[in-house]
Amino acid sequence: MRRLLYFLRDYRKESILGPLFKLLEASFELLVPLVVADIIDVGIAHRDSAYVLGRGGILILLGLIGLASSITAQYFAAKAAVGCSTQMRGALFRHLNSFSYKELDTIGTSTLITRITSDINQVQTGVNLVLRLFLRSPFIVFGAMVMAFTIDVRSALIFLGVIPVLFLVVFGIMGLTIPVYRKVQGQLDRVLLHVRENLSGVRVVRAFNRQSDEQETFHADSAALMKTQLFVGKISALLNPLTYAIINAAVILLVWTGGKQVDSGILTQGQVVALVNYMSQILVELIKLANLIVNITRSLASLSRINSVFEQEAGMREGTYTGAVPGSEETAYTGMGNEAESCRAAVPCVEFRDVSMIYQEGAEAALEHVSFQAWPGETIGVIGGTGSGKSTLVNLIPRFYDASEGSVLVDGVDVRDYELQALRRRIGVVPQKAVLFSGTIRENLRWGKKDASDAELLEALGTAQGLEIVEKKENGLDEEILQGGRNLSGGQRQRLTIARALVRNPEILILDDSASALDFATDARLRKALRERKKSAAVFLVSQRAATVRQADKIIVLDDGEVAGIGTHEALFQSCEVYREICLSQASAEEEKAHEA
Ligand code: ADP
Ligand code: MG
Repeated sequence: MRRLLYFLRDYRKESILGPLFKLLEASFELLVPLVVADIIDVGIAHRDSAYVLGRGGILILLGLIGLASSITAQYFAAKAAVGCSTQMRGALFRHLNSFSYKELDTIGTSTLITRITSDINQVQTGVNLVLRLFLRSPFIVFGAMVMAFTIDVRSALIFLGVIPVLFLVVFGIMGLTIPVYRKVQGQLDRVLLHVRENLSGVRVVRAFNRQSDEQETFHADSAALMKTQLFVGKISALLNPLTYAIINAAVILLVWTGGKQVDSGILTQGQVVALVNYMSQILVELIKLANLIVNITRSLASLSRINSVFEQEAGMREGTYTGAVPGSEETAYTGMGNEAESCRAAVPCVEFRDVSMIYQEGAEAALEHVSFQAWPGETIGVIGGTGSGKSTLVNLIPRFYDASEGSVLVDGVDVRDYELQALRRRIGVVPQKAVLFSGTIRENLRWGKKDASDAELLEALGTAQGLEIVEKKENGLDEEILQGGRNLSGGQRQRLTIARALVRNPEILILDDSASALDFATDARLRKALRERKKSAAVFLVSQRAATVRQADKIIVLDDGEVAGIGTHEALFQSCEVYREICLSQASAEEEKAHEA
């Protein structure tokens, strides 16, 4: 709630003026029955058509003023609501971007999407409705009652009796339905999750012939959703007939007692009509109020879902070390002076000191007591079966996660002491899953370096063996990539992501299984190009293929999170059981051939 007010702070004027204009509109509405009463009692009773027309004019005027204030109120309310939700959405997006992988893992991406879209929309609707109706509806209900008292105390007593009964019915039904609506929301989430998973995994579903099973669970879920919605619909359907029955009973009572009083001259006919009018105004407002409260509860639920994201603090504290080598980062990348080089070569590029990693409390360690050093210019191969911790190891270098134990050093400085930007600027990561964004090839490659020239881009593409992709496309670098890179093959996507990392000309290049979709010959050419590229950079080559890492200066063999051995191909083949097994199991004729090529 406090957070909502915080986002409304720029719209203080609107948030006050909106309800005020609504009250103005309501006051004019309350006057209408009195004018109608005059028309009946004076105009019609005396057959004075001039009077009727005059009062009719007043009615129209009241209507117009009411309309004007209503429009003004809507304008202010909408401005405040939309402005507030826009700010909230912006703040939430900024906050999400401060999350490390760890927080994203725990919250889950799909629910974050719902929160930043539909939940914020719900809050927006809530704010809008509150600004418009929260004061207005109670004002009309009580205003109409007070007006009834000014007309005739005895008849007004009927109001006093009926309003509580109406309240009871309207809010009783609301009380019954709100929890069910919550349940509906939960079930809707499930159906959505199901649809999302099925659409994104449609190939897998088909490949495993799971369509009919998936359809069955979907039907079960959506049938459950329908059942609850029918149930809550039936209860809500009671609202109208019940309230109308009560109101009409009250009207009959009014007319009956009123009629007697008219006969004895206490009341006029017009006053009876005015009383009836007030009665129906009350009904309409009560129903609006109930609707408002349903909306408020839903908005509050959404607000608390949004709040819980805001309250999730980014678990990583940035350090302040920027690692600025005198002479700017450029020297560090390309034309590094001899002096700088020798000073730099005094410390390893990347060092792991007894690093262990446990993702969640109670889970098994994904890495255990890993120590090694990587020097500038070295190629480090990381090999192991799936789930052995290869990705975990390399993800610790750009600090995507924090190590649970031990420390990771880049250029002799603990990664936790770096400013994240400064740290990641030194590192080019090609993630295991090749992700491209919609936009042109050029735009995608420039993620690596904002102002990269075409020559730089083409050079990076050359190293990544991706020149032919651009040459084949008719628009070259301007070729549009569709969402998620759907118009490219897996291998093409991988080579573009490699080029993207190379454009940055990083000190540390990490290829996480990035050649998995390349054929052996392209893979071999890629490794050759990478070796020839830059002497001062350290390259981490993660792979499950022995052929990919065999020429690395140092190979780290991982087995179930533990280091089984570190060394060159020859040394490990002699001494490391795990490594020898991997090599032998993969020594197919094809691979040998590719290796020789
Ligand atoms: P590899 O890249 O060698 O296939 P990973 O480093 O991805 O292996 O995974 C090592 C282990 O850590 C696996 O047991 C995996 O289940 C676990 N793991 C990986 N990522 C996460 C994560 N984000 N949250 C929890 N556990 C994870
Ligand atoms: Mg992996």
